[in-house]
Amino acid sequence: MTKRRPAAEYIVLEEKYGAHNYHPLPVVLEKGEGIFVWDVDGKRYFDFLSAYSAVNQGHCHPKIVEALCTQARKLCLTSRAFYNDCLGPYEEMATRFFGYDRLLPMNSGAEAVETALKLARRWGYKVKGIPENEALIVVCEGNFHGRTITVVSMSSDPESFSRYGPFTPGFIQIPYDDVEALRKVLDREGDRVCAMLVEPVQGEAGVYVPEDGYLRACYALCHAHNVLFVADEVQTGLGRTGRLLACDHEGVRPDMVTIGKALSGGTLPVSAVLADDEVMLTIGPGEHGSTFGGFPLADKVAMAALEVIRDERLAENADRMGAIFREEISKIRSPYYKYVRGKGLLNAVVTEPKDDIEAWDICLALAEKGLLAKPTHRHIIRFAPPLVITEEQLREAIAVIQDVFESL
Ligand SMILES: *Cc1c(COP(=O)(O)O)cnc(C)c1O
Repeated sequence: MTKRRPAAEYIVLEEKYGAHNYHPLPVVLEKGEGIFVWDVDGKRYFDFLSAYSAVNQGHCHPKIVEALCTQARKLCLTSRAFYNDCLGPYEEMATRFFGYDRLLPMNSGAEAVETALKLARRWGYKVKGIPENEALIVVCEGNFHGRTITVVSMSSDPESFSRYGPFTPGFIQIPYDDVEALRKVLDREGDRVCAMLVEPVQGEAGVYVPEDGYLRACYALCHAHNVLFVADEVQTGLGRTGRLLACDHEGVRPDMVTIGKALSGGTLPVSAVLADDEVMLTIGPGEHGSTFGGFPLADKVAMAALEVIRDERLAENADRMGAIFREEISKIRSPYYKYVRGKGLLNAVVTEPKDDIEAWDICLALAEKGLLAKPTHRHIIRFAPPLVITEEQLREAIAVIQDVFESL
């Protein structure tokens, strides 16, 4: 058995031997259960990040872990060179669950987005008839769709794209939550546009919720111009915003959806693209793939993860808890507090940085009091607990947040 080291030593190891592409809060976690995580000294925290919404079902959900361990003992990976007895049942279950003809399995969210971009271009050439290599995809300023070179080619955040060029061409950026900007682009270049890619709520950007009706208006414009409406629901999907998919709030059924993160309840990287025949069947054998995509372990885990979302009514709970969260948090009176915004349990508090106290410092104070949340930018703190949180737990956590703001 390896001897347990003091927390500081683990931090030093990452600093010394790891790439420096993250700046974590100084807590070292070793255990999780439900909405809680514990550090190596045994201190318990409310997890209000949920691994960027990958742990909607709560840490180490027993049904998901059971599915993982049972399948791990039987068969983990076959590659797609052969059939296996898990993928088909998973594809049938998931397509029924979300109401699409077909599913294409991948691993990370970025890969699901890449896949959706490929499908959109394919559809553009094969179905819409755009001249070869001229397809355009409309994306929104402030987007976050992952970290590959093509995906950061769509980004408007210099931190994400600077000095990674040259970039993948073929993207047009328009302001988020601006229907007129989309109308103009489609009036001008609609013939060459194959898709619009959009997050129903911009999560990484700081939880920007668009005006009611924005998604519906975009969908209608896209359809008027024979353009695919593609929703990136990697973060907003799977109950997070109070509906199974965030697009459900507006009664919009996207032509293509990317999902990931909570698709495995935080146990494995599991992602997917959902689409109908007309789009999905534009890619044939050998034209796209992934060694692990749709592997038996992922299939069993994803089925369990979706069952938990359905059986425990996590979307409904997120809707109800989110309303309580925003109502209670908006009562905070502190010079550092500005306002709260969000949908379901995807929320952010916008702070007022002053006297050298920024969002980062508030997150340190929250951690001290036993609640983990992560700042985005200098003034925004995202609050997104696992969707299994009860009202009693939520109110306890809210009291911690209020206490921290009011005693800064
Ligand atoms: C997290 C996220 C991704 C990327 O997922 P990874 O698994 O980190 O590659 C893509 N889109 C959205 C909206 C996300 O929040």
